[in-house]
Amino acid sequence: MSEQDPAASPNLWQRIPLWQKILAGLVLGVLAGALMGERASLFKPLGDIFINAIKMLIVPLVFSTLVVGITAMRDPQKMGRIGLRTIALYLLTTAFAIAIGLLASWIFQPGVGLDMTFDSGVDPQKAPTLVEILVGLVPQNPIDALANGNILQIIVFAIGLGISLTLIGEKGEPVVKVFESFAEAMVKLTNIVMSFAPFGVFGLIAHVAGSYGLEVLLPLAKVIGVAYLASVLHVLLVYSGLLALLGRLNPLRYLQGILDALVVAYSSASSSGTLPVSLRCARNNLGVSEGVAGFVLPVGATINMDGTAIYQGVVAVFIAQLLGVDLSMTDYGMIILTGTLASIGTAGVPGAGLVMLSIVMAQIGLPLEAIAVIAGIDRILDMARTCVNVAGDLMVTTLVGKSEGELDEDVYNAKSSR
Ligand code: ASP
Repeated sequence: MSEQDPAASPNLWQRIPLWQKILAGLVLGVLAGALMGERASLFKPLGDIFINAIKMLIVPLVFSTLVVGITAMRDPQKMGRIGLRTIALYLLTTAFAIAIGLLASWIFQPGVGLDMTFDSGVDPQKAPTLVEILVGLVPQNPIDALANGNILQIIVFAIGLGISLTLIGEKGEPVVKVFESFAEAMVKLTNIVMSFAPFGVFGLIAHVAGSYGLEVLLPLAKVIGVAYLASVLHVLLVYSGLLALLGRLNPLRYLQGILDALVVAYSSASSSGTLPVSLRCARNNLGVSEGVAGFVLPVGATINMDGTAIYQGVVAVFIAQLLGVDLSMTDYGMIILTGTLASIGTAGVPGAGLVMLSIVMAQIGLPLEAIAVIAGIDRILDMARTCVNVAGDLMVTTLVGKSEGELDEDVYNAKSSR
């Protein structure tokens, strides 16, 4: 797609690359929050409008992109291979994530020596069984799935429609053309909405920074630090490592290419909400084909939550330390197993990981009330884990694209402003 080169624009605002404007929005948002405190909520509607506009794009964008991608691929076997690789990579990276979270909490001991009380009750959740997940994949009514934004069901229907359109050949062409044109319009609309991102991010971050005083953050500074450190390490070691080793790709280009998505993930704390931005990064900056990105990213935004897995590991061990409970090797094994399942069951919306934490806690016999200790600062942790969730989806998309010959390395390696 030919987009105007921003560097050639006579207008200064247009000459600055979008990611720099978004980062500036983030920094200014933190400053405004720190200076104005609660009064910074004044800017929240800016953020809400932005998030609503992105969410408006999710269903039509995912649906049309996937139908177009599948009809362009023309090979159901290839689809099957892509599906298997995607799931395998998602599971592998999640297992690494939770192990890194556990290790970080075990080394840095964020809960030792803390004295905190808690009293609010939390309802235990239930991890979905594999059979439940499989049965729930097939929509009874695709319009209902579209209306409710049930991404996995939408994916199943879009794959079915895409394959059928391919199979009926010439007769399917008019519909394919309609979808192509519709998908292109949705991509354009995403670009338009994204031009508002610097203001939206500013509004969201100003509100968050203004609502958390140091008195709530300081006692928990260590666990926040450990969760952030584990998240950064996961992205830098596991994602960059896999890209370099399995994909023979320069990880720096990946990190640069996903910046927009990371800032939106950080400020919105929703990987589903970030999906249109992730699709845009995959296509424009990483050079992944529409078919691969249109399938791998929405699946990831629904089931791949590495940041949430890290968080489950860090917080479970933190709470055990806080309560002076010694965890056995079996407990650690259980945390890895239930944490992986819980992260798969976590919805890509703000705060979902906190609710799913109760599965892990119940499994190793920790009192659910203890979740209240971190509930007050969960948003700060949520912002970091959502970044990792989104970064993981984009990493797997890049690797799958590369393995299927669906990655344009000229775009991936391009040094131009993004
Ligand atoms: N907020 C996270 C996401 O959207 C999910 C979570 O709460 O862990 O990715």
